[in-house]
Amino acid sequence: MAVKVWQEIKVQYCEHAGGEVALEAEVLYPDEVMPESGPRIVAHRCSRGAECGLLEEASCVWAGTNPNYDPFAEKAD
Ligand code: SF4
Repeated sequence: MAVKVWQEIKVQYCEHAGGEVALEAEVLYPDEVMPESGPRIVAHRCSRGAECGLLEEASCVWAGTNPNYDPFAEKAD
């Protein structure tokens, strides 16, 4: 049976959240009977995106309130 798990792929400080947040990927691991397809990433999310989506002010693409801002895409100085 195939298995889906959420895995942390990047952790960084988020000014909007006031702390560290994680970009997570949902990875689908194939059934043992058909292992040739390999693992696939099927979704991404921010570890605090659901909370941010409930706030009135726009935050970022991961909260679904600002498609023009992705804090995980910014490069560190
Ligand atoms: S959804 Fe966006 S703004 Fe909210 S905590 Fe995550 S990265 Fe920060």
